[in-house]
Amino acid sequence: MVRAGLCIGCGACVAGGNGRMAYDRYGQLQPQNAARPETFEHLCPFSPFAADEDAIAGARFAAAPQRDRKVGRFEATYVGHVAEGDYRAQGSSGGMVTWMAAELLSRRLVDGVAHVAATDPSPDGGFFGYRISRSLEELNAGAKSRYHPIELSGVIDAIRVEPGRYAVVGIPCFIKAVHLLRATDPVLAERIVFTLGLFCGHMKSLRMVESFAWQMGVPLEAVTSLDYRLKDPDRPANWYRAHLNLRDGGTAAQDWWHLADGDWGAGFFQNPACNFCDDVTAETADIAFGDAWVEPYASDGNGTNVVIARSPVLNDIVRDGIMQGRLALQPVDAEFVAATQAAGLRHRREGLAYRLTWRRRGIRPVKRVAPDRRGHTLRRKLIYRMRAGIAFWSHRVFWLAHRTGQPRLYIAWARAALRLYQALTYSRGRLGRFIDGLGLAGRDG
Ligand SMILES: Cc1cc2nc3c(=O)[nH]c(=O)nc-3n(C[C@H](O)[C@H](O)[C@H](O)COP(=O)(O)OP(=O)(O)OC[C@H]3O[C@@H](n4cnc5c(N)ncnc54)[C@H](O)[C@@H]3O)c2cc1C
Repeated sequence: MVRAGLCIGCGACVAGGNGRMAYDRYGQLQPQNAARPETFEHLCPFSPFAADEDAIAGARFAAAPQRDRKVGRFEATYVGHVAEGDYRAQGSSGGMVTWMAAELLSRRLVDGVAHVAATDPSPDGGFFGYRISRSLEELNAGAKSRYHPIELSGVIDAIRVEPGRYAVVGIPCFIKAVHLLRATDPVLAERIVFTLGLFCGHMKSLRMVESFAWQMGVPLEAVTSLDYRLKDPDRPANWYRAHLNLRDGGTAAQDWWHLADGDWGAGFFQNPACNFCDDVTAETADIAFGDAWVEPYASDGNGTNVVIARSPVLNDIVRDGIMQGRLALQPVDAEFVAATQAAGLRHRREGLAYRLTWRRRGIRPVKRVAPDRRGHTLRRKLIYRMRAGIAFWSHRVFWLAHRTGQPRLYIAWARAALRLYQALTYSRGRLGRFIDGLGLAGRDG
């Protein structure tokens, strides 16, 4: 799986064994001495032999009244934010993930929540890791999105050791891995009682932090902690601003749009396995949360969630919250939720169909999307090629720049790649018309 570029680094394969996860030269977590080879093929979320998202969700949410091709099975869908306390101000989006996790703890439905919080910078450069929070204080201190490699093996081992009921927060492939682990281990099946999913565009490598630091003129060693999305109610929510805290007490900050690799869609530092993902909205999670990337919400710097409640129990908690005025959520339909993730879904469905036709070595991924080379315009095909190229080369050019002590090598390459990508993607001018003129018949992107 690692050699085939299908390892997301979730750590499911080393949980419960003597193996461990370590960063590779590109700042991605990979298994060392992965244990449990006998069950590995059924545990890995990208394994072609593992149950897929439809099978897992079908078994878990068989009675769900609604089913949608893009967002999966569900009880109800909502848009809005937390109205009480400072969940919204402290969260990356509308604060719903932390609110729901806190509610599970307060109602004593769980004893602990496995989620991702800041750690002291590790010698290998990591700034975040999974941990189990058992109090509201711990939970709140872990709010916010971390576009940073993290892995589950430590918390899975802790859950096996410590009896209790747990919730796990994670991106879609991690939640899938949790369900695959639960299917092979009755202890985990009994103890992990809720899964809280985060919508996902893709997973970044550790190098993105270092690149941001380089571009802000500070060495990585000077950074003690970071916020990928500093919240500012006076600016649109989708104007991400990265914020670094420095060892000397100072700070450095920059808007993602001014960083050479800050266009999320271009795919800089994307984990290669994400090229073969077809789940944007955590279809196997009991409840899933994302950002409402449509107007007027995208322009509201306070942050707004979209929520997909798949489990009736968690949907009841959401409904209680609305009735008590603690949540400012309105019901929406699946089309609305899908529209908030239009770009991600297009990349993971029609883009994936095209990527599945590319020649590749090693294990062939098996996805819910059928390979399709024909149903795309020339421009869309070039965009998918370009994104894959940027993802592939960003790891390697950064490695070379790091190795030779020449940050400018990477930054110059990234700026050039970004210019080309943006010309291809957004150009309505001559370049765009030229490509479209060459275009094959097919849907527009
Ligand atoms: C890698 C990644 C990609 C994402 N891509 C998209 C996207 O394309 N579209 C979209 O709408 N939303 C995406 N999200 C989700 C979005 O960033 C918000 O996390 C989500 O809207 C919830 O916001 P909130 O304010 O409700 O959460 P908060 O109240 O801020 O709580 C966030 C919770 O998630 C936990 N957490 C943070 N990072 C991770 C992580 N990497 N793994 C597991 N748990 C974590 C925190 O510990 C905390 O408990 C992504 C998140 C991640 C981590």
